[in-house]
Amino acid sequence: MLTRSQLSNLLEQHAQPSYRVNQILDWIYKKRVHSWEGMSNLPSELRESLSADFPLRPLSHVLTKGSRDTTRKFLLKLADGRYVETVLIPASPALYGETSDRHTLCVSSQVGCAYGCKFCASGLDGFTRNLTAAEIVSQILLVEELSGEKVNNLVFMGMGEPLANFENLCQALEIITAHWGLGIGARRITVSTSGLVPQIKKLAELSQQIRLAISLHGPNDETRSQIMPVNRKYPVADLFDALEVWNSKKNQKITLEYILIDGINSHIDHARELVQRAKSIRAKVNLIPYNTVEGLPWVRPTDQDCLSFKKVLTNGGISATLRLEKGHDIDAACGQLRLKKEQGTL
Ligand code: SF4
Repeated sequence: MLTRSQLSNLLEQHAQPSYRVNQILDWIYKKRVHSWEGMSNLPSELRESLSADFPLRPLSHVLTKGSRDTTRKFLLKLADGRYVETVLIPASPALYGETSDRHTLCVSSQVGCAYGCKFCASGLDGFTRNLTAAEIVSQILLVEELSGEKVNNLVFMGMGEPLANFENLCQALEIITAHWGLGIGARRITVSTSGLVPQIKKLAELSQQIRLAISLHGPNDETRSQIMPVNRKYPVADLFDALEVWNSKKNQKITLEYILIDGINSHIDHARELVQRAKSIRAKVNLIPYNTVEGLPWVRPTDQDCLSFKKVLTNGGISATLRLEKGHDIDAACGQLRLKKEQGTL
């Protein structure tokens, strides 16, 4: 999957006229052909030579799991035999605090993950490799084809830490937002990170008005480090400095993601501290009751405790949502489906 400038350079090397660029972009991103052979207005030698080097579908469909509320999870196989997961959420009121017609796709950015957040199955098996830009974009193309739905909202919250795959993420974002590409508005794209401080500052320099979500899960170093090892490298104060930088460049509210884990980060004092943190960067908060992960010891608080936590935030003037459960019955915590497949238990 190529950007306009990459394709243009490539075609120059093949001594092709410049109008081929638009022809090919149109075939790939608008007409959605699966192979170079299908591009009937290109010379056959060119098709043959490009198809050897640039496969148009670098991943294939393995299985789909759908839950009662119609969230669907797709297990996709990469050319090297690895697996990634992509989740389609037809409407996501709890993510946005409103009823919407959004078709949200949650995409993966890496195979496995090196960051080892303690609530997450993706980190259980370590990091394997970055996804290419083509593999990121192809998740959208393939799911649109399989589901018949047009994806109009995108979240980088699947497997992997997107900011640890920075160059490929930026290339994918270019293709996804471009009018010659998928044409999804930057404001409908959220990149979620565990809090890589240097990359947050770098991402703030992108001209696109994408949204940023932070996996916070603890309002102070002591609590957050128990849940997210990355906090030892980038402590909360440094993270919030980087978020100030983000705010100075973008006019989108940051979202703080906060998984509520019983006895770990769900005390009312945590909620009070979270109010101060969120206020300092004018962020909204997305509360997610912990989803049980096989092999991990934590449990979710009661619904009443979750509601009480939320109440402290809203009373403190923070816009907060308590996410309705989605996909609980399809191993929707990121990485679980892929892990089962690779361990041969699926
Ligand atoms: S939550 Fe994200 S960054 Fe943390 S281990 Fe899972 S995939 Fe990696």
